[in-house]
Amino acid sequence: MKKKIVLTGDRPTGPLHLGHYVGSLAARVRLQESCRQFVMIADAQALTDHADQPGKVRENVLEVALDYLAVGLDPQKTTIFIQSEVPALPELTQYFLNLVTWNRLKHNPTVKLEIQQKGFGEEVPAGFMVYPISQAADITAFKASLVPVGEDQIPMIEQTVELVRKFNRLYRTGVLVEPEVLISSVARLPGVDGKAKMGKSLGNAIFLSDSSDVLAKKVKGMYTDPGHLRVEDPGKVEGNPVFTYLDAFAEDKAYVAGLKEHYARGGLGDSGVKKYLLEVLEAFLHPIRERRQEFAKHPEGVMQMLRCGTEVARESAQKTLLEVRRAMGIDYF
Ligand code: ATP
Ligand code: MG
Repeated sequence: MKKKIVLTGDRPTGPLHLGHYVGSLAARVRLQESCRQFVMIADAQALTDHADQPGKVRENVLEVALDYLAVGLDPQKTTIFIQSEVPALPELTQYFLNLVTWNRLKHNPTVKLEIQQKGFGEEVPAGFMVYPISQAADITAFKASLVPVGEDQIPMIEQTVELVRKFNRLYRTGVLVEPEVLISSVARLPGVDGKAKMGKSLGNAIFLSDSSDVLAKKVKGMYTDPGHLRVEDPGKVEGNPVFTYLDAFAEDKAYVAGLKEHYARGGLGDSGVKKYLLEVLEAFLHPIRERRQEFAKHPEGVMQMLRCGTEVARESAQKTLLEVRRAMGIDYF
């Protein structure tokens, strides 16, 4: 049987955080065993809202690659590559842009929210507005049928499916493959500030590379139930990020259930729960941190790995591009 093809990626706008882990990285580590997996460092997409900071984007390519290796993505099993080094991707984007209306682009809910968060107002970079279409190019270029991502990406995959259908119908072809989204049980990890999503550009993230000290400080300062003023007071578990993190990372589910019950009843202080959360996160992050430090000693080796992956990705995407051009009847020579 043919292996399923998986594509996903991250914007090199900062190192990766706990949200990336539960939302997508954990699934990737699993999927690389049974699927043909491509993982993209989306530097071109990062530039859509960081055009004035190409240096930041460049630096973070290595950071993101180190995070991948640290959590267990294996370059022997997963093709890891840099988006801007695959020229077929912007070319596909250009053809796809003609199949989507401006009105449709304006109504993508994630893009709308991000425009607000980034404070663009009316001054939205055109490249940012159309990034869901470049994402459709990324997915279809590799004929991916499975895309493991966080909840914020659902509208992007929906838009990709629409586009694939339109392309295949219009050009009477079957070259493009409809992708399916794979959402993990923790579809959206909240930030340490209690905001709905931990994001690397939102200043509310615990990074996989944070030191023990930084981790301790972030956990201590975490948002909890603002109504829980005295230890004796009953506290709210629902929507309390400290418990969401425990649900996502603690292995002893029975113990967490007990803590929740105690907290809700009253008599359990925030600092007690945070102390346990710190233990849990430290145990989770410690080995990742150690592996990361080892890989970080050899940045040239990591770049070489990216170069090899990028060559493989280039070949795959170029093949699809030729099929697309043929389907459109613009293959001249
Ligand atoms: P930025 O703020 O620059 O957009 P980000 O933290 O949103 O960064 P991305 O690189 O945009 O990270 O997202 C990469 C992948 O990680 C996507 O699949 C996204 O859905 C997932 N992801 C990001 N943040 C979270 C989160 N808090 N919970 C679950 N998944 C997440
Ligand atoms: Mg994002």
